[in-house]
Amino acid sequence: MNGKVYLVGAGPGDGGLMTLKGKTLISKADVIVYDRLVGPEIMEMIPADAEKIDVGKNAGNHPVPQHEINQILLDQAKAGKVVVRLKGGDPFVFGRGGEELELLEENGIDFEVVPGITSSIAAAAYGGIPVTHRDFCSSLHIITGHAKAGAELKIDFDALVRLKGTLVFMMSVSTVDRIADGLIKAGMDSEMPAAIVERGTMPGQRTFTAPLSQICEVVRENNVKSPAVILVGKVCSLSDKFDWFDKKPLLGKRVVVTQPAARNSKLANGLRQLGAEVIMYPCIETTPIRPLDVPEIYEEPDTRGKAFDTFVFTSAEGVRSYCEWLLEEGLDMRALAGISIACIGSATAAALRDYGLTADFIPSVYSGEALGKEMIESGFVDKDSRVLLLRTTAASHDVTDALSRAYIPFTDYPVYETHLIDQPPLEEMGPVDFLTFTSRSCVEGFIKSQGSADAAAGSTADGAAPRFDGVPALCIGERTAEAAAEHGFKITVSDEATIDSMLAKVIDM
Ligand code: SAH
Repeated sequence: MNGKVYLVGAGPGDGGLMTLKGKTLISKADVIVYDRLVGPEIMEMIPADAEKIDVGKNAGNHPVPQHEINQILLDQAKAGKVVVRLKGGDPFVFGRGGEELELLEENGIDFEVVPGITSSIAAAAYGGIPVTHRDFCSSLHIITGHAKAGAELKIDFDALVRLKGTLVFMMSVSTVDRIADGLIKAGMDSEMPAAIVERGTMPGQRTFTAPLSQICEVVRENNVKSPAVILVGKVCSLSDKFDWFDKKPLLGKRVVVTQPAARNSKLANGLRQLGAEVIMYPCIETTPIRPLDVPEIYEEPDTRGKAFDTFVFTSAEGVRSYCEWLLEEGLDMRALAGISIACIGSATAAALRDYGLTADFIPSVYSGEALGKEMIESGFVDKDSRVLLLRTTAASHDVTDALSRAYIPFTDYPVYETHLIDQPPLEEMGPVDFLTFTSRSCVEGFIKSQGSADAAAGSTADGAAPRFDGVPALCIGERTAEAAAEHGFKITVSDEATIDSMLAKVIDM
């Protein structure tokens, strides 16, 4: 049976500007056929098991010719695949989306179209330019400024000038001189406000405004490159007033996130929201551990006969691994009836709530040390308690040391493993403003990826761990900070061990 092709607009680059429908389709696709203008945040949404076909460039660095793309879509659909053809912006706005549907239609392949937010409007909006405004214009025109080498531009400048609308030129960075010239020759005021928005909605977006007669100089002086939209019209005069994007505190900053790759990282999204370019550089990954036997606790239906009366979780991952395991065993949260639950902080408590569980104990400070100390001091656990810690193989000794010192019996039970991941050395990622560490293992994984000292900047001795003296690092808590400080990082520690608290501190970095 034939598959189906979804022609999906990926929007202008900002991951948040992808449609919900498009995102859902990406998560279910067998094959994703994409090109150059699809932003990196959108690429992160693609599940690991989907086949990715890049038609943005082939071996010779040239784009795959259109007829070959059409054929790829047809072949994949004929092989029964669910295909998402992902295109920058909107697939029908200078996206050749129509051409890609023709062959499918001729061959009786099912298809659907999911419009996207076009960069012609979105890049303007992110540059503080409303493409229409009642006081300034009554029409909007989207024009391609693309011309084959040496050929004339096929633009009716007289008509455009007569209409007095907002003009948006796409694919026009190399022809901006001819466009400005054509408009002025056709009678447009050479002082007409114009603007150019480069890499609109993406980290590194730049917006420039100038009178029409000077826009070419601005493009040249600032070395503006594609992708960029050029806007001409009175609305461009609003850019200075409405330029909300350039006010973002982390604009132009490149920040490394070392935490495990998650589809929806609160830290990465929060940093992007503040204007940063986020480099996803996961240094650890976690895998659940599934011991063969259901733990003793579930074999005894009588609550009073359970082997433990207190559970302690020190990470959201621990909660998820454990609760999923329960469910896989055909049990549910009733198995925990009568058991008291302590957890290390708000994120872990939130993970418990996702499974319908409320933490009975959260320490005033979100650290293993505080958890151990306060559980004991408050009498939440005592010598008669039977405590089960459900954690990673790489857990710290803070809680267990405190319990041991107070002679409180416990069992430390790993429910997931933490592995360090090898990444290419940081220097290959280009310039970086600061790093973020959300656990000690992230620091360990990061350091391991840097090779020996001689490979890294600031090295001191052969074969020793590399040094990162003075490199700014934002750390989630004291333990993480200590681990990072050992390697020379210039440390900032969040006030609380939460992502929100890290994001609050980021402004000072
Ligand atoms: N279908 C796309 C346009 C494809 S044509 C859309 O609807 O947005 C390619 C042109 O789109 C580029 O030359 C540039 O003019 C514009 N463009 C695409 N992404 C852009 C971005 N993030 N910022 C500014 N212009 C962009």
